[in-house]
Amino acid sequence: MNITAAIPPADEQHTRSKLWYVTSDDKPRGFIQSYALDELWLHTGTACNLACPFCLEGSKPGDNRLQLMRFDDAKPYIDEALTLGVKQFSFTGGEPFINKDMIRILDYSLRYRPCLVLTNATEPLIKRITHLESLRERNHKLHFRVSLDHFEASQHDAGRGEGMFDLALEGLRKLHEMGFALSVANQVLADMSSEEVTKQFAAVFRAAGLPEDLPRIEFPEFYPPETEVSAPQITQNCMADFQTEKSRRDFMCAFSRMVVKRDGECQVFACTLVDDDADYVLGKTLSESLQVPVSMKHHRCYSCFRFGASCSEMK
Ligand code: SF4
Repeated sequence: MNITAAIPPADEQHTRSKLWYVTSDDKPRGFIQSYALDELWLHTGTACNLACPFCLEGSKPGDNRLQLMRFDDAKPYIDEALTLGVKQFSFTGGEPFINKDMIRILDYSLRYRPCLVLTNATEPLIKRITHLESLRERNHKLHFRVSLDHFEASQHDAGRGEGMFDLALEGLRKLHEMGFALSVANQVLADMSSEEVTKQFAAVFRAAGLPEDLPRIEFPEFYPPETEVSAPQITQNCMADFQTEKSRRDFMCAFSRMVVKRDGECQVFACTLVDDDADYVLGKTLSESLQVPVSMKHHRCYSCFRFGASCSEMK
């Protein structure tokens, strides 16, 4: 896999900042050249029923930094992804079930591939739970990943609002009873051993009538959009010295893309973690986006590099 990108002549550099190509001390950046489109993420919009201060998307009620993606926006990308051999469609927000086209988008996607939806499993999902009935009959599996920040209700509710822990568990239970595949996402709890965290979550799941071994995905702190974060810069040498061909293929930008709607048009970003930086717009079509080597310039790239952080459950 190619981990370099030629610095274009000065008159062709206008589309991206110089920092896309070199670090602040002028060393060549590490790059990832995508080898496939295994997973297509669609961002359903940054509107959310909750306003968590730590949200990496800055989502909140009425937010439109990223606009609601309508069925007619999503369909051409779903169709194009199918021609490129995509294996899964994944959806993130905001809260996807705020979007009134979500069921229709899922209904269409599930005819062709398995789908993953990231949700807070509270009111917007619970209100539409009966609309999910028909999706159980589709050709492919529908999987939900529910955010549960902490195994203690008070800690979860401190960020998400009182009663949200219980509501998320109610949403999880309803989805489980309907037979959907489930996982849970939480932030890394650095002051506790992973065994203890697993034990505490298992007790919560058991008490809620859920399988106690529900898969859990842990995330490092990503910080809200456009936060100035000082993270080590990843050079071309770092990608060669500290990564292998195999580990480089596991970076999301090596095998996935994300489509968002901004300012009335859809754009393809390198991954789910960089939509606050216009340098990461790689084109309007998926095919053209796959030709662009992806720079390790964003501060969140360090989480991928150092901790193997990934929103995907495919690798
Ligand atoms: S955040 Fe991770 S997946 Fe996204 S572009 Fe950076 S290294 Fe790639």
